[in-house]
Amino acid sequence: MKKSLAIFLESLDLFSTPKLRLEQYPTPSSLAAEIAVTASIIDSEQDVFLDLGCGTGILSVAMGLMGFQVVGVDVDRDALKIAVKNSRKADVDVDFVQQDVRYLMLKKRAGIVMNPPFGIKKRHADRIFLKKAFETGNVIYSIHSAGSEDFVRKMAEFNGFQVTHVWKYRMPLRKTYHFHQKQYKLIPVEVFRMEMVLK
Ligand code: SAH
Repeated sequence: MKKSLAIFLESLDLFSTPKLRLEQYPTPSSLAAEIAVTASIIDSEQDVFLDLGCGTGILSVAMGLMGFQVVGVDVDRDALKIAVKNSRKADVDVDFVQQDVRYLMLKKRAGIVMNPPFGIKKRHADRIFLKKAFETGNVIYSIHSAGSEDFVRKMAEFNGFQVTHVWKYRMPLRKTYHFHQKQYKLIPVEVFRMEMVLK
């Protein structure tokens, strides 16, 4: 299941001209498949997932293929056009909205999946996403650069969430920007699952 999902996701289109300012790095297929399959097991009762900063939609499509209803949100129209194309190819129940995640307001909490900007070029870029995830989510899957665990745990606790799972990965990143020297680079990342603490 995970393997065939990853193989399909590998065929999706990526950012054509990634925008450095927005830290557009796609999630690798294997990691997207891992998250979606895990969510389909642990969070099967969840109906809707929001993909915050969905980019070209790999996480949205992966979650859609696992049977969730998904709404992908991104500020970048060019990325969303590719995401729409990818979701049509996969024939999944995914809608896309062009919006800065900071201005998102929901009536009802939903599941959240996200690979936000890590905040390397723009400080605290991932803080904005975490804040929104705690405000609108009940369950959150989120990818961060290695070394984020303390920060994420503290922020979760402060916002009434608890970290239930932490996965450490080496994420193979393709050469995306001209300043990358190698074709592939392994970036250590941490993936968190968090849930609301019921009072
Ligand atoms: N989630 C995608 C893309 C990750 S790159 C994937 O897993 O492949 C981070 C994405 O966040 C980019 O597509 C970028 O356009 C988007 N982004 C950055 N700042 C944003 C903001 N304030 N609001 C919405 N999207 C934003």
